[in-house]
Amino acid sequence: MIPLARPCISDEECAAVERVLRSGKLIHGEECEAFEAELASYLGVPHVLVVSSGTAALHLALLALGIGPGDAVLVPDFTFPATANAVELVGARPVFVDVDASTYNVSTQGLADAIDRWQGPEQLRAIMPVHEFGCPLDMHGVMALARHHNLLVVEDAACALGTRCEDGMAGSFGVAGCFSFHPRKSLTTGEGGAVAVHDPELAKRLKLLRNHGMQPGRRGMEFVLAGLNYRMTNFQAALGRVQLTKLDGWIAARHGLQKAYRQILIDPFISLPVEVVGHAWQTFMIVLEKSVDRGQIISELARQGIECNLGAQALHIQDYFGMRYKEAAQELDSGIAERLFHQGLALPLFPALGMADVKRVGCELLHAIRG
Ligand SMILES: *Cc1c(COP(=O)(O)O)cnc(C)c1O
Repeated sequence: MIPLARPCISDEECAAVERVLRSGKLIHGEECEAFEAELASYLGVPHVLVVSSGTAALHLALLALGIGPGDAVLVPDFTFPATANAVELVGARPVFVDVDASTYNVSTQGLADAIDRWQGPEQLRAIMPVHEFGCPLDMHGVMALARHHNLLVVEDAACALGTRCEDGMAGSFGVAGCFSFHPRKSLTTGEGGAVAVHDPELAKRLKLLRNHGMQPGRRGMEFVLAGLNYRMTNFQAALGRVQLTKLDGWIAARHGLQKAYRQILIDPFISLPVEVVGHAWQTFMIVLEKSVDRGQIISELARQGIECNLGAQALHIQDYFGMRYKEAAQELDSGIAERLFHQGLALPLFPALGMADVKRVGCELLHAIRG
């Protein structure tokens, strides 16, 4: 069986986790703080907070920024639903923006058009762009647009740790950058995530919200706001620390594999993602022509022992958002996200995948399409 993804866990990772388990210090502590410092240095930001998931990172960032009822936030229509769920869960309204057909990301122009179109009644407060599948956004463009309209930028870099955007890392441009360490991502802690920020006051607020709103005071622990428990464990951080030392090598391997796929997958029924500099290739998703039955291709490949799947969702047609924002969905001007949702096909891609496996996947896929 060739799986879609498989995390790289070596003896070194196992030893690091075992060391922490045997220490008895399981919850947030020294390992988490060391991991935070190492991530901050990798990303080139002053503060990183590790948390329990990518979704927790997004939720905390919006809470800490005070985004809530009466506010609207621009999100891509094509993403994992957690992006928009976080907006809903703070009581704000997600506004869906269609994406570019070759990067699968929102474009700066697409965001600008959505801002011009927006009529309320909610007030646009923030842009939450996604570096989809590790593809770098034009962050200088996005930041300039946000400054012009006085909007906050919260980067959903959940699948983009290690993605490079011109002169900086994905997740290091906005007021907050959110990451996931789910096993489908390039670095894993089992479940886990992180928020990267520049402002020390914002970092302080995130820390409080992550840990019950609790801080040491004159009378012992004081509870100064209604917080959550979104902490990461020390043994997860130990796992992440080992993984971080190998991340750039893994991204280079992913890059080589996606190049190999390109050489094989030359077919009029297949569109390939554009090769943007700095891409971390968390996922390699191709798009099949409309006449190709994706479900049948997925089943045929499964019979050959190859796992493939859809790439991401078009949010405006999912049950929850479709019902809640029916009229808004009708106004979405083009259906690229919808096409990517229905015709996108994510192929196996992980550092331990061999070139021979890539060739097999490519050949079986072409065979399934050509019949
Ligand atoms: C994976 C992912 C998330 C969610 O991360 P979890 O750690 O699974 O909560 C959110 N947004 C995007 C774009 C993702 O790829």
